[in-house]
Amino acid sequence: MDRLNRRRFLGFAGASGISLAAITGCVMPRSGADSPELNTSKPTVAPAVAAPTTPGVGPTAAPPPIADPRSSELALQALIEGNTRYVEQKLSHPNQSLNRLTEVAAGQKPFAAILGCADSRVPPEIVFDRGLGDLFVVRGAGNFADDVALGSLEFAVAVLGVSVIMVLGHERCGAVAAAVQGGPAIGHIAGLIHAIRPAVERTQGMEGDPVENAVNANVQIVVENLKNTGPILAEAVANGSLKIVGGRYDLDSGMVQIIA
Ligand SMILES: [Zn+2]
Repeated sequence: MDRLNRRRFLGFAGASGISLAAITGCVMPRSGADSPELNTSKPTVAPAVAAPTTPGVGPTAAPPPIADPRSSELALQALIEGNTRYVEQKLSHPNQSLNRLTEVAAGQKPFAAILGCADSRVPPEIVFDRGLGDLFVVRGAGNFADDVALGSLEFAVAVLGVSVIMVLGHERCGAVAAAVQGGPAIGHIAGLIHAIRPAVERTQGMEGDPVENAVNANVQIVVENLKNTGPILAEAVANGSLKIVGGRYDLDSGMVQIIA
């Protein structure tokens, strides 16, 4: 990020009540030595991470270890492992204690950003078994990245130092189903459906369930768009400090599958 944009973000953060010390503490590692080793072409996570699952621990238990939250691979690993705990109902409920509340009151340092659907059945902190200050969550019906969502994600990356963004679609998404169905829409819902239309068009004529096909395509399109949106996200992806992936949440099993 160039100096001007960085300054504008810092100004934004200051206006939001985030301390300068917290901001610089988050931003500094972005240009440090932890980024170059990332393999952005690798679709899954590094194998060297210790399994954090501790079945049966209570809500005040220590969070699963994240050796380096600035690393895309480890951040993605933490998301996947949290979802595994959720699916298997071996929840750790990390970072939900009063101590954590006090800790993050001074400043946030989330390790991942989620662009998810507003659907009430897909709450990121629950399906990834995380707690306060862990996830920077942006939600809207159809998990679409409009300018406000994009600005939020850029803030997460440029100021908070998030190293992974997951676009999270889900099975039987009502917004996508409405776009597939077509026809007139009331109020501002029309704009929402219009935003999802490219996914419907990409999957027309494809075998299988048209809504599920469009859900997957919508996630893939949003991931592609985020990766190519400059200057902040595209630059971070290019220099290896940011990974942008797409996930599909299964409403029946609770499992998140990486699809992009
Ligand atoms: Zn949805």
